[in-house]
Amino acid sequence: MRMKPLYLAALLLSILMLVACAGSGVFPAPQPAPAVPADTPSEPSAPPVSPYVPPENDAEPIPLYSVPAPSPTPETEADVEPEPVLEPEPEIDPEDAPEPPTIPTQNSGIDPSKPMVALTFDDGPGKYMSRILDTLELHNARATFFTIGSLLDAQKDTVLRAFDMDCEILGHSWSHRDLTKLGEKTLREEILNTGDAIEAITGGVAARLFRPPYGAYNNTVSNVSAELGFTLINWSLDTFDWKIKDADRIYNSIMDRVKSNDIILCHDLHAPTADAVERIIPSLIEMGYQLVTVSELLFHTYGELEAGQVYVGGK
Ligand SMILES: [Zn+2]
Repeated sequence: MRMKPLYLAALLLSILMLVACAGSGVFPAPQPAPAVPADTPSEPSAPPVSPYVPPENDAEPIPLYSVPAPSPTPETEADVEPEPVLEPEPEIDPEDAPEPPTIPTQNSGIDPSKPMVALTFDDGPGKYMSRILDTLELHNARATFFTIGSLLDAQKDTVLRAFDMDCEILGHSWSHRDLTKLGEKTLREEILNTGDAIEAITGGVAARLFRPPYGAYNNTVSNVSAELGFTLINWSLDTFDWKIKDADRIYNSIMDRVKSNDIILCHDLHAPTADAVERIIPSLIEMGYQLVTVSELLFHTYGELEAGQVYVGGK
């Protein structure tokens, strides 16, 4: 059977149209693949957008207004004085107010034209104070006792006997601590309480001279002493009796070196010292020395003593 030409023409036309549509994109064509897959790293074509990149020469920009301004007068611990200015005055009885050092006026029988020495005995009232007083009494001589305040009450009678013999009773601190290691408050107590204890026994006679334990002092000790009206007394001749504990050597330590106006350091704690004193006192008198108290000896060189100063002998 033969196709009709009309059908054949229509068929050809349909085929042609299909081909033409495919080429012209009338029908959806597959989407071309993206040039670069989204998940593939790649150099960006433009610099990334940064929120803020500081200029190289402007590193560490410092907002000056946020830096705390220095205080015009910075206060640090080091700038604060240990003793605040507003600290209350030390509690001192009006009776303890500074007074000029008292110089004994007895000076009985002292000839200033003749040599004199002052024997001193520290750390008592000691076990051998009475024996030493016996020797002094026997030779009508005087000495000075630098006593420890805390020991005074138990030896009132011996102390009073010495005082009645015109010996001098002075302080050697309350507890024999190194005064240079104490605070000012304790230092005042060491000096004042001992002075008070002496005055309580001797009937209110001011004892305004004292010897610091070990002879140790510094500016603070001197300043506090000056404030309290006390004068410091050390020595010019040390017997080292507490160390050598031998009567002959103690005796020789004085006889070999003694000179006029010496203040001689001994202790009334040891028997060899008391033994030596029994020979020392008559020997010194025989050599022409007057045995006087510290105050008497210094009075003849200096007259009035200066509070806070240290004296080691006369001239
Ligand atoms: Zn002592």
